[in-house]
Amino acid sequence: MRMGAGRPKQLLAIGGRSLLQRSVAVCDRHPAVGELVVVLHATLLGEAETLIGRTRCALRVVAGGARRQDSVRAGVLAVTASADVVLIHDAARPFANEALIDRVIAAAASTGAAIPAVGARDTVKRRDLATGCVGESVPRAEIWMAQTPQAFRRDVLAVIGPLSAGQREATDESMLAEWAGIPVMIVEGDERNVKITTPDDLTAARRRDTPAPRVGTGYDLHRLVEGRPLMLAGVHVPFERGPLGHSDGDVLCHSLTDALLGAAGAGDIGKHFPNTDPAWKGAPGLDLLQRAVAIVAAAGYTPSSADISIILEQPKLLPFIQAMRERVAAALGVDVSAVSIKGKTNEGVDAVGRGEAIAAHAVAVLTARGDA
Ligand code: MG
Repeated sequence: MRMGAGRPKQLLAIGGRSLLQRSVAVCDRHPAVGELVVVLHATLLGEAETLIGRTRCALRVVAGGARRQDSVRAGVLAVTASADVVLIHDAARPFANEALIDRVIAAAASTGAAIPAVGARDTVKRRDLATGCVGESVPRAEIWMAQTPQAFRRDVLAVIGPLSAGQREATDESMLAEWAGIPVMIVEGDERNVKITTPDDLTAARRRDTPAPRVGTGYDLHRLVEGRPLMLAGVHVPFERGPLGHSDGDVLCHSLTDALLGAAGAGDIGKHFPNTDPAWKGAPGLDLLQRAVAIVAAAGYTPSSADISIILEQPKLLPFIQAMRERVAAALGVDVSAVSIKGKTNEGVDAVGRGEAIAAHAVAVLTARGDA
């Protein structure tokens, strides 16, 4: 695995892990891989442990050279003598997969050298460099785009290794085998195994890596009775009546708790905080909400936004909305701008309209955590 000079693009991250870490991990978790050699630019050797992270396999880190082939040579020389087949992988290809690695290893073990490649999709033209015009169309079946990891048997590396020290520049390792007249088997590559070369590649890879958001809805209703405080998101709203309930009857927190649990597929408020359990008698809604955030976090999700409608005939909630948003935002660990709370009336219709009850509808959006 090779990297360029300075702070190379391989240290850029997708979903919280660098291209380097992801490319190392693809090889590290393959059952046939027994050891790893990472080639880093000499200036990065001091931070190698942090840059690479923990690995299952034994890991050696060596300094790269001026050209790709010099770095690869340094890496290959650091491989222990017992290795039968050596895989050479690019740190900018984080999406190689186990099946692809299986194919190149199997082919190299039997033939000596193998590369994964994908066929050309477009019609391929050879350009006449003198005129700048099309010289000829190349039969597409003959055109294959080389990927990595490329695999070489130990005896083949012994032959091609010295070639890499020469003046001729090889843009991939299999070119060295070609020069030596050693056949290189082409195995099926993978369209997803792209090399991250441009900022556009990185943007596209990040978009592809972003899991779809999870959405949940929640609903709650409590009767309004005299002698109970009206609590919404832990904010006391002065009023002559308040919600009847085993807990504090905070419909905002209860509906949002259900929305969070629903989005994570983690059950509902009754499952986690049953009203038959004395532990939850008088429990503040904000406390249940915070516990629900911990439950969805344990399931691998982070709240990203919430939208709640409170349906209540009286009193007007507007003066309290901002305080409620701040408390909900703090409980969810999001910015206040990601929390929306609206007060609605029921236009005098039904029990809520007659002021006999308070209700709430909530929608919560979760995202899967970074490097999941
Ligand atoms: Mg409730």
